[in-house]
Amino acid sequence: MMTKIKGKRMLIGGRWIEKEETINVYDPQDNTIFSTVPKATKEDMLHAIEAAEEGAKIAAQMPVHERLSILNKAADYVLEHSELYAETIASEGSKTITEARAEVSRCVDTLRISAEEARRINGETIPFDQMPGHENRVGYYYKFPIGIIAAITPFNDPLNLVAHKIGPAVASGNAIIVKPATLTPISAILLAEAFDAAGLPEKVLSVITGSGSEIGDILISHPSIRMVSFTGGLETGEQIAKKAGLKKLSMELGSNSPVIVLDDANIEDTVSSCVSGAFWAVGQNCLGVQRIFVTESNFDEFVQKFITKTNTYKVGDKKDEATNMGPLISEKEAIRVEEWVNEALDEGATLLTGGKRDGAFYSPTVLTNVSTDAKIAKEEIFGPVVLLFQVKDLDEAIEKANDVNYGLQAGIFTKDIKLAFEAIKRLEVGGLMINDSSDYRIDGMPFGGVKGSGLGREGVKYTIQEMTEPKVIQFKL
Ligand code: NAD
Repeated sequence: MMTKIKGKRMLIGGRWIEKEETINVYDPQDNTIFSTVPKATKEDMLHAIEAAEEGAKIAAQMPVHERLSILNKAADYVLEHSELYAETIASEGSKTITEARAEVSRCVDTLRISAEEARRINGETIPFDQMPGHENRVGYYYKFPIGIIAAITPFNDPLNLVAHKIGPAVASGNAIIVKPATLTPISAILLAEAFDAAGLPEKVLSVITGSGSEIGDILISHPSIRMVSFTGGLETGEQIAKKAGLKKLSMELGSNSPVIVLDDANIEDTVSSCVSGAFWAVGQNCLGVQRIFVTESNFDEFVQKFITKTNTYKVGDKKDEATNMGPLISEKEAIRVEEWVNEALDEGATLLTGGKRDGAFYSPTVLTNVSTDAKIAKEEIFGPVVLLFQVKDLDEAIEKANDVNYGLQAGIFTKDIKLAFEAIKRLEVGGLMINDSSDYRIDGMPFGGVKGSGLGREGVKYTIQEMTEPKVIQFKL
């Protein structure tokens, strides 16, 4: 049975642990305490690693049919309690209840896709006779689990991004230790409950709560950990990469995604898709539309329609189904966003709408006349702010879109297939959406970035590739 206690305990190697020392989990909307979680110590982390050393052996022995049965049962469990999961996301995080429900549904899918992919962890035969003198040899490779995975996750999709690591880890027969975001740990704990209820053997999974900088180092640097799967900001990712040592790294980092709108774009569709892509989850979205490059002939119409659509957004109570946008994850973050916008305005940018803060709430904001060298154009804003740039043509748009240290996803709106292919060839990103905004993802596609946006790919099938290692078998006949 699902606990009515939201949080208060963590899962270490199959045992639910409470601690006297706790961390408060706040609802950012009104700063009330939503729940608490145990503050894990370094010793707790060492226990989790010790348990995982055994857990990795247990997981690797688990037949595929058991793995997929557990994954499907965990998905059933999340589905059965979906409203509690959605309420939790919408309480500890920034998302509205509508956005939270969509995330729960994605999580169920992620677990089901993981179950399906468990059937397809295949190797392939190798033509050894390609080398003269090797004609009497045959062989192939298997894919084996890598061992213990350390997963560190961010606050903005507190359930599905955790499912993106646990699902493939279980599917591929690994043990996994999750350190969820300190601000939003309860969704991850509820996901651990789903796996506990589904019968995942003890020691295969730990979800350990505490400060990333305090307990994270032990996890990242421990020699028993074979892979660090991190989703979060570039700065944290770089720190982790330095400390990890000889381990496989998967780095899903941030971006300031560009969208290009050409002369022949359907403006209604484009505006609708870009506004939604810019303000989903208060713009706290690694794929969020941040920079839009519009060619001259469309610019004025695009700007007018963009402002009109943005102004229909209702900002307010996350639990109200009529609300389009809730608060940022904290007042501190809202103040940071406000400062970045004010800095751009001081440097000559024009505020087209928004720019107002009330506690953790920040209104959907549209700027133009921003220098492409401004901080707000170069860095990841991670808030509800979008920058509109007028450009001459595709060449200028591509050049400006690429002139940052990020490259996760981009969008281009055009009916001209030749220009679309030009963009495919030249945009420095991990994914390009034609006639859609950068904010498009399904959980079965390879997802990840180039440059400062990361290393490796997620998306269940691709995560499994990262979480397994080939072992070559060769027969001399
Ligand atoms: P963050 O980098 O501040 O924190 C991410 C995680 O790292 C948290 O669990 C945190 O506790 C932990 N952490 C912090 N310092 C640590 C340390 N020294 N050692 C170990 N762990 C540490 O990121 P955030 O603010 O939670 O999330 C926002 C960022 O995540 C944005 O940059 C966003 O673009 C990115 N993100 C990327 C993707 C993707 O798939 N590419 C998806 C979602 C979010």
